[in-house]
Amino acid sequence: MAKNVPEWWISSNEAVKEYLYRVASKGKVSVAGHSAGGREILMYEYGEKEELPQKVSFSSAYAAKKPELYTRASERKKPVLFIYAAIHGAEIEGCAALMNLVNLLEKGYDLLGRENEALLSLAKQYRLVMVPLSQPDGRARFKLDALQGESLETFQFYAHGIWKDGRPCTYPGHKEIMPLPVSEMKQLGAYFNDNGVNCQHDDFFGDMQPEVRTLVDIVHAERPDCILSCHSCEAEPGMSCPAFSTTPAADMMTIQISNLTITHQTACNLRPYCNINIKKHNYFLLQDILYFASGALPLMYEFQHGCDNFPYTLQEIIDTGLILFEEIMRFGAKNKFMPRF
Ligand SMILES: [Zn+2]
Repeated sequence: MAKNVPEWWISSNEAVKEYLYRVASKGKVSVAGHSAGGREILMYEYGEKEELPQKVSFSSAYAAKKPELYTRASERKKPVLFIYAAIHGAEIEGCAALMNLVNLLEKGYDLLGRENEALLSLAKQYRLVMVPLSQPDGRARFKLDALQGESLETFQFYAHGIWKDGRPCTYPGHKEIMPLPVSEMKQLGAYFNDNGVNCQHDDFFGDMQPEVRTLVDIVHAERPDCILSCHSCEAEPGMSCPAFSTTPAADMMTIQISNLTITHQTACNLRPYCNINIKKHNYFLLQDILYFASGALPLMYEFQHGCDNFPYTLQEIIDTGLILFEEIMRFGAKNKFMPRF
């Protein structure tokens, strides 16, 4: 049974669509693509798009020792930050935080009615592109508005799912089969789209899932300077390890942003995970593909679900996200996330 969440917590397919189309006037809302199950993938843009015709591939520019020929970041007036959330459909905390950022951009205060001059003035220095619910099939199967205060059993049921014989479909064991045989599931976890695919580990060079295609097309067109992928876990919030595919300079940047975020969140008593993940991912996943499609610094953040094993309030979760966005923007406003190649 879904509990009531406050009106400042917007996280369902329906609520996000209603809210974005109602509130957007400074920014623009559009349908960027459709999921495997045919659901709309919505995008919100803020700040003018600077068109720069593409004259070289990223690989070719990199091989010429001039990745800037592809990114052309120095020719743009504003850096581009792309943020997407909920590629795992129950991991909606980043979406709820993003809706508060949108409200701040549109109205000058977040959904709790709070002004935030520091974040707003930083945001105005960027072109921001957001996909708040990037895998809406899983979101539709997740029947709650938040996992905050719920048990780990509820988390397991909705996030990862249950086989027909009653066994839980557990992480990371379910990575051994891709796609999952949907007909053999009693409850398909929100992790997966309607094809049973965990988009983090799509067959990227084969029959690409439409959610992945949508994200690749966006970053290919935008060539952002930084990409933030918002996930969630059943523990404390924190930045994930540096990506498999990036350079030591980019890895150092990830660690610095993580450190700045932890310092700020700790000063606000938000109880982040304080051991910085400095070791690189030893496998590749969606953010590596987005890096190769754009050259952007790929960041991956794990929000906290706030389940009853690690309790956090919904407001703490929102504030964790707003500080994360602020620190990423402050860092990039100084150096445009360079040098990272
Ligand atoms: Zn995730």
